[in-house]
Amino acid sequence: MRTYIVLREDDANATTRSEDIERVYEPLIKLKIPVNVAVIPSVYCANKLPEGHPLLSKQKYYPYIQASEGEDKYLSVNGAKKLISLFNGENFEVLQHGYSHERIHNCFEFGIKDTQELESRVLKGKHILEVSFGKKPRFFVAPHEYFSKEAFKVATKNFAGTFVPLVSRRSFLHDLPVGFFPSYFIQKTMGKDFYFFKDNFMVLETRGLYLLNGNINDCMKLAQRLIQRFKIVVIVNHYWQYSLDEDLIKSWFNFLDSLIKCNCRFISCTDLYEKLGT
Ligand SMILES: [Zn+2]
Repeated sequence: MRTYIVLREDDANATTRSEDIERVYEPLIKLKIPVNVAVIPSVYCANKLPEGHPLLSKQKYYPYIQASEGEDKYLSVNGAKKLISLFNGENFEVLQHGYSHERIHNCFEFGIKDTQELESRVLKGKHILEVSFGKKPRFFVAPHEYFSKEAFKVATKNFAGTFVPLVSRRSFLHDLPVGFFPSYFIQKTMGKDFYFFKDNFMVLETRGLYLLNGNINDCMKLAQRLIQRFKIVVIVNHYWQYSLDEDLIKSWFNFLDSLIKCNCRFISCTDLYEKLGT
């Protein structure tokens, strides 16, 4: 069985240096292998992580880089011309990553319940990405993959698909609109793969492969296990963790090399959607 790998890069935004992305994805760019980039349309520059969050001590968490000294302002990715030109290349599919990635009333951005506000964020973000990249994003990634029930409904109305965390780990079922239950349970019972469709909306489950804080070796082991068993494996990477860390870059390149050599195929969200939807 050939496994499809959906590699997702999270958190690119107006403050991202295109050189950092080029460095981290160099082997894939050379081989024209698809990478899905979840772009924050209008990053909030004074983002703060919740109290006690393990990343609080990290200085290089880009959406939160100005956590202590950030200005109370938003930066549109439309101003990042080099990044836009890189992501308009044939390797990349741009996905929408929230709107500003900010916390609102102590919730993650898409954990709030105000449907009007959620819709406005989705549409403003979509517009910025369309103006910047020349086409509308088809897939949505909620910051921290965290949805309220209302936010999930808004996503289904505006996109062709999204990602959710491993259901058993974050009681996502609680937040899944009831209409999704039958397709979810049918897929869970009948299939081995962690994706499901409701009407034409595709939901991919991320099964713990979040490359974060240099945990590449653990992820490599988990990826090997998942690739043996499943047809689709989602891997979430964060470019900002590699900055100035050559050892980590080497481990990441080894990881990529092992994925390229195994019987896997990297795929864009749009191509996967076409394959699974037929
Ligand atoms: Zn994010």
